Amino acid sequence: MNKQFYISVSGQDDIAINLAENESVSVVLSHSTFRKEPGDVTTTFKVDGYRWIGDDMDIISWAEFAIEPGNEIKISFQEASGPGTPPKTDLRFVPEEPECSFCQKKAREVKTLIAAPFFAHICDECIETSVDIIKQRQVT
Ligand SMILES: [Zn+2]
Repeated sequence: MNKQFYISVSGQDDIAINLAENESVSVVLSHSTFRKEPGDVTTTFKVDGYRWIGDDMDIISWAEFAIEPGNEIKISFQEASGPGTPPKTDLRFVPEEPECSFCQKKAREVKTLIAAPFFAHICDECIETSVDIIKQRQVT
């Protein structure tokens, strides 16, 4: 029996990923924010992963798409028993507008928001504060 999992975002086609019996995967979810002009913020959601067959590992990029705050993202896992079997949903979330993990300012409230894995971000203002703290510690 083959294993499958599905990634779906509201309003887009499901991405189906098939795995052989001896394969396993780790999935890495991340999102990052780009700002073209003030007030014009685009958030991109990425699904990457590692596919293992025995000791061999490949890094895969499965999906990358623009999301809006409020879009629903579903990750579903399924033991495929035939075409048309509805996927069993294991994980579902609605991303909010990204914010700085340190000061909680939203992407549109700062000049730059830099993304790290697992939805952590830091803004340009917190980076400046951090640099000041580091410089002060180096003086003393
Ligand atoms: Zn900040």
